[in-house]
Amino acid sequence: MITAATDIQFLKGVGEKRATYLKSKGIDTVGALLRFYPRAYLDWTNIKNISETDFFTNCCIKAKIISPIKSSYIRRDMIIYRFTVEDKSGLAEICLFNQKYLAEKLREGREYLFYGKVEGNFYLRKMSSPKIMPSDFNGIMPIYPSSSKLSSKQLESIMKNAVNSTNLVETLPESIRKKNNLCGIKFAIENIHFPKSRENFEIAKKRLVFEELFILQAGLNFLKLRKREKNGCIINENYLPEFESKIPFKLTNAQKRVIIESLTDMSSGQSMNRLIQGDVGSGKTAVAAALMYITAKNGYQSALMAPTEILAEQHFKTITKITQSTGIKCGLLTGSTTKRQKALIKESLKNGEIDVIIGTHALLVDDVEFNNIGLVITDEQHRFGVSQRGKLSSKGENPHTLVMSATPIPRTLGLILYGDLDISIIDEYPKGRQSIDTFVVDTSYRARIYNYIKKFLNEGRQGYIVCPLVEENEELNITPATEYYEKLKKGEFKDYSLGLLHGKMNAKDKEKAMKSFFDGQIQLLVCTTVIEVGIDVPNSVIMVIENAERFGLSQLHQLRGRIGRGSYKSSCILITDNKSIDTKRRLDVIKNSNDGFKIADEDLKLRGPGDFLGSRQHGLPEMKIADLFADREILHLAGKEVENLLKNDPRLENSENSGLKNEIKTLYNKLNNN
Ligand code: ADP
Ligand code: MG
Repeated sequence: MITAATDIQFLKGVGEKRATYLKSKGIDTVGALLRFYPRAYLDWTNIKNISETDFFTNCCIKAKIISPIKSSYIRRDMIIYRFTVEDKSGLAEICLFNQKYLAEKLREGREYLFYGKVEGNFYLRKMSSPKIMPSDFNGIMPIYPSSSKLSSKQLESIMKNAVNSTNLVETLPESIRKKNNLCGIKFAIENIHFPKSRENFEIAKKRLVFEELFILQAGLNFLKLRKREKNGCIINENYLPEFESKIPFKLTNAQKRVIIESLTDMSSGQSMNRLIQGDVGSGKTAVAAALMYITAKNGYQSALMAPTEILAEQHFKTITKITQSTGIKCGLLTGSTTKRQKALIKESLKNGEIDVIIGTHALLVDDVEFNNIGLVITDEQHRFGVSQRGKLSSKGENPHTLVMSATPIPRTLGLILYGDLDISIIDEYPKGRQSIDTFVVDTSYRARIYNYIKKFLNEGRQGYIVCPLVEENEELNITPATEYYEKLKKGEFKDYSLGLLHGKMNAKDKEKAMKSFFDGQIQLLVCTTVIEVGIDVPNSVIMVIENAERFGLSQLHQLRGRIGRGSYKSSCILITDNKSIDTKRRLDVIKNSNDGFKIADEDLKLRGPGDFLGSRQHGLPEMKIADLFADREILHLAGKEVENLLKNDPRLENSENSGLKNEIKTLYNKLNNN
């Protein structure tokens, strides 16, 4: 008997060669094959009158051949067959190229179905090389992604064998199917591959979309519950007032609330898994610092991981300042820490001398070991994969885990992407911030812009000029930023102190440039998007972005977040010579809003969800049939059902739920290993 678990090799029609090919595509079992859905369909049931077909779209017509089939050579190796067809609404001309066998089978006076793209003109519509079927054919044909190794047709015939011979186990409990009006698994699989009608296809699709979103959310929920069940160390001495006395400002109410939400988790005995979401400049670093401070005071180590060295160094500086003369010892570990220094730090981490470690991916290497790590924080989480976040946590026994992110994502997507985390939101900016003025101009304004920048620099402020990263000349090590910097330094800004910062510089030079900018020695920093995340120099108030059309909206928002961090009025100037409507629309979004959530929504609307979810960064499995955006209503329905189900049967022990349990287990393992 063939089941979903049967090796693909044992399916009729699949020999050794095809099995190897299918396996290379991740299709190991018959079950996986059945879940390889068509990418499109040929719908022969939706018959149009010739006169009502739309030009340049694929249509199906039912028409009688009313002329002889004429053949002519248009090249030595190319015969074209032409004939006229008619239905009750009008005429059309059909041509076939080189399809001798097909052409000879067709009979004048007989009726057929023709499926193809409609061309020609209003007086005479034409179809070139349409697909042709007998007029009584009634069905919808699947089209699979094809390759030279396996055509869509070949896959279709294998699929037919699979659909007909597999004994499928129901994955959705009957009660849930009844309540949500969902068909059974057998009907769904049959009709997603070989729909008997449009309606059947819709019914099948709805069920499979629901199932996919249901299992995804159930899997994430399990992940969350399992994590919560784990014991975390207990941080119950509250040193928050002491921490507050060490910082130069008063925490905002939102910062305090988020710190307390986290401390509640951390004192509960279970391990924390929390996401802190706060727009750029909302003060996430202070929250991280407070929790690390309190953790250290409670006798546990903590780690903070940042996506760039520059940011790690900045965090290190901020936190060392706060912890000086408190007995808390801090360390910094990045890719450019010297070998000797690294060995020293690793030793002190292992024996517990260092309480607080700040670093980059360098923290993830295997020989970094801790004495008693209690808290792990990832800054700018969206820059890391889920696996990396997990890897740092796995260096201890269920340390409390906190991830911080400024990239706001629409709510529904957040539910999924962060389905395994509790969420805290910093929804308030520190007091005294002034809004940023944003302008969009073309390059004819350049002289004026330079004067505008100088005005700020003369008042003692600092600024950035951001150049897009384009093809770099590796050999000469020249970047557009370098050229631009040289030009300004010798020309327009020769009386000012300029700095250069881009990704291709070596770590030492980067550090030097950053330090001089922090210290105020550099007035104007010519840079690439390396400054996009985290950089915090409140004295900088002017930012000019060249070729602004080349950046994504969320990226522009992040970049702009580098200014407007202190009490000074700030300005952001976007330069572009691109006059397209699309560019104007996008840059207007930035000009008119400073709200990261709103900008993300607009970005999503303009780009579609592909860019948000197409990136594999988030570590979630790719959706086979559901579209997290278009199917968001079903997503919510399924989410509610998951909640109900787990309330009633938290370990899925009911026999009704056994099929489901298997699916979730498979997914859970996938997520866990990711
Ligand atoms: P982000 O959330 O983007 O990481 P940061 O933590 O870098 O923001 O903070 C942005 C700036 O705001 C920093 O200069 C920081 O010192 C300052 N800041 C943070 N919290 C407060 C506060 N409560 N009051 C005043 N300034 C604050
Ligand atoms: Mg930050």
